[in-house]
Amino acid sequence: MLDAPKAARMLIGGQWVDAADGAVVETLDPASGKIIGTIPDASASDVDAAVAAARKAQGPWAATPPAERARILWKIADLIEANIDELSELEALDQGKPLYVARWAEIPGAVGQFRFFAGQAMAIEGQTITPSITYQPQGKEMRAWTVREAVGVVAAIVPWNSPLVLTAMKLAPAFAAGCAVVLKPAEDTSLSAIRLGELIQEAGLPDGVFNVITGRGAISGAALASHHDVDKVAFTGSTATGRAILDASKGNLKRVSLELGGKSPVVIMGDADLNLAIPGAANAIFFNAGQVCVAGSRSYVHASVYDQVVEGLAAYAGGLKLGHGLDPATQMGPLVNARQAERVSGFIAGARSEGAAIVAGGERLGPAGTFITPTVVANVTASMEIVREEVFGPVLAVQKFDDVEEVVAMANDSVYGLAASVWTESLSHAHRLSSRIKAGTVWINCHSMYDASLPIGGVKQSGYGRDSGREALESYLETKTICAVV
Ligand code: ADP
Repeated sequence: MLDAPKAARMLIGGQWVDAADGAVVETLDPASGKIIGTIPDASASDVDAAVAAARKAQGPWAATPPAERARILWKIADLIEANIDELSELEALDQGKPLYVARWAEIPGAVGQFRFFAGQAMAIEGQTITPSITYQPQGKEMRAWTVREAVGVVAAIVPWNSPLVLTAMKLAPAFAAGCAVVLKPAEDTSLSAIRLGELIQEAGLPDGVFNVITGRGAISGAALASHHDVDKVAFTGSTATGRAILDASKGNLKRVSLELGGKSPVVIMGDADLNLAIPGAANAIFFNAGQVCVAGSRSYVHASVYDQVVEGLAAYAGGLKLGHGLDPATQMGPLVNARQAERVSGFIAGARSEGAAIVAGGERLGPAGTFITPTVVANVTASMEIVREEVFGPVLAVQKFDDVEEVVAMANDSVYGLAASVWTESLSHAHRLSSRIKAGTVWINCHSMYDASLPIGGVKQSGYGRDSGREALESYLETKTICAVV
């Protein structure tokens, strides 16, 4: 059974340490509001030490044979898998998610990342190129080729909604490419990253290739984003923090990848299989209590099936069992903290006052006020805040449409462009809508389908760069061109 650390430490250069000034922040069980323990509250000097450790380790790690890097990545995957029950319980306790979400989606997702990128580590290759340069000394020939080299020291800054898999989405391609990483998990959910650090040490990753800095984002996260010896920041989180990171990164023009917020549309056509579409649309928003960057928070339903779908969604929402993440019967847990629950209930109150109808849920419950009942909001219009803003909670806004042109315009009427789903039995609708909806990912008859092989990331204000897939590996590599007279 779970033994969460009471006074957790951070990992710098292979050593488990407190913050240099001894500062800590408390970490809570979001369901009960009780303190589970503390984590170090790192300052800029701790960040300096972690970046220095990463810098020292990076060169030798990049020079390690790819097969050896792959072997260690595969071993990390094996160790995560061997400790899946403990990691799932830790995530359920610290983040609040139901055990089944951690056990069957999040932690296996992390395993998949390390396995996929173990293979990719051995498939890094450049090109040979024949240039048209006319300069050619007598008796000599020109040759040119490219090599792919690790970006260097990476700061991975991750949020609190799915801590372990989002961490793995940064670490696995970075390690495969030969980068060293300083990870900054979110202050509310650092425990799984700390346990991952122990497993990564056990897997034999050389000291300093992986470092964990904990504490407040505005202090240690900001110090990493502005650090002159960090070569790349890989960020997942809110659009506002993404902007702050981009500003902070200017000093040394470090590479930045941003996987930000979303307001993903779920389009249910009149010809959809509603036995699939209704639970699918409900899961798209209620999974992980809506704390998913690709959550399907706007549903557009064809007029011919609108009443049936709204009724089905409301019934589904009303049937979900809320509870502590560690209770195996729980289908939906609390939000990550009281501040987030307050914010989400503010959006619900706003929708009510703008004239929307709350057809399911809408309540805030629990000893710490962190539970929001699964909420379906109908009678919404395109200008309402509930349709425009990312809520990051279990709140679905449903609108009616009449034809394809109208729903394409509705789906694209957002500053975000992270993901979308289309529910239809028509091949023509599936193709036409998936090509016209502006989003980094469009799912057809499914939603939130992640895999280590599938690039995920946004267009518009949902950010740039991709996690997962070959493209993620490429983003941790630079191209060096070599042009030679031989
Ligand atoms: P939220 O606002 O919901 O807490 P964020 O996007 O701010 O989500 O958090 C994602 C990650 O960014 C967390 O690890 C957090 O500590 C970190 N963070 C927060 N503010 C900053 C900042 N100014 N610079 C760098 N990282 C930050």
